[in-house]
Amino acid sequence: MPSDNTPLFNRVALIGLGLIGSSLGHVMKRDGLAGHIVGNARTEETCAKAVEIGFVDSASIDPAEAAQDADLVVICTPVGVIADIAATIAPVLKKNAIITDVGSVKMAVIRDVGPLLPVGVHLVPGHPVAGTEHSGPESGFPELFEGRYCILTPPPGTDESAIDRVSELWRRTGSVVEIMDAKHHDRVLAVTSHLPHLIAYTIVGTASDMESSGRDADATGDDVAANEVIKYSAGGFRDFTRIAASDPVMWRDIFLNNREAVLEILGRFTEDLTALQRAIRWGEGDALEDLFARTRKIRRGVIDMRQAGTFKATEQEAAQDPES
Ligand code: NAP
Repeated sequence: MPSDNTPLFNRVALIGLGLIGSSLGHVMKRDGLAGHIVGNARTEETCAKAVEIGFVDSASIDPAEAAQDADLVVICTPVGVIADIAATIAPVLKKNAIITDVGSVKMAVIRDVGPLLPVGVHLVPGHPVAGTEHSGPESGFPELFEGRYCILTPPPGTDESAIDRVSELWRRTGSVVEIMDAKHHDRVLAVTSHLPHLIAYTIVGTASDMESSGRDADATGDDVAANEVIKYSAGGFRDFTRIAASDPVMWRDIFLNNREAVLEILGRFTEDLTALQRAIRWGEGDALEDLFARTRKIRRGVIDMRQAGTFKATEQEAAQDPES
């Protein structure tokens, strides 16, 4: 592996210049990890912004132009378009180029992208388990990946030196790299990330329906008034609104591409929810307290593994968050 001040890759193509693409660009620029970074996004506007901010050296709205001659291509778009992009760039990829991605789902990427790549091009799928609810080229920052896990899911038989080079890139961003089977990744992330987002989207949707419709009054006619949900949001709702503010396209693609694992976990979750519902109905205080005591310990474990903090986009947000 090159020493700390030698670029790891001569030419890197960043396809997708949003939160993850820009954060990776920032850290590669800051630490000289690439000789030249060429960016690609759907719109001229994003390309121009990326060059202006300076986390890429040049940019093009044509993914094939960006990927030409690249030693490393990192696809940082929503999961639903990764295969289309791979099909577009496949004919121009040079021999021994490495293709990686940052998509939150891994089985679908391997299934859809693997067959499109020419012989001699190495696919090393990845997922940095780091993020915020913000999107776009202005949302990135170089510290995003520090202390976070980055999971790589190379299919069996992947070139070892390609895996080593992608691992080293993520280590240089400050991430802890783990190699995992793609199916296992999708199941674990269904519990730790996809289900929590689904719950947040549901709760925020339910609350917003209740406060505005007037159709959810209880038997005595009591209704939740407009603005009451926002006004009293510090009761717990506020934390769900942060998660439910995540990018709609990105999350649509995650659920459509991790359907089986999410549905399986959702089935188990629904059973557990029904058990809780019954405990409340039957006044089983001990059962409730036992569960809440157990879950409190899990929170302790998350803090002990230094995975509790969320990065804040603004100083103001950071100041308002007791955990930062
Ligand atoms: P983002 O901020 O919304 O940026 C998406 C980028 O992809 C934009 O530059 C966009 O270009 C480009 N793009 C190209 N084709 C697109 C299309 N058909 N639809 C939408 N955008 C398209 O996204 P992100 O948060 O960086 O997420 C990128 C990937 O990282 C996703 O696969 C996601 O699953 C994964 N990921 C996200 C997080 C997170 O917390 N956000 C964490 C880990 C992994 P334009 O700007 O020109 O539209």
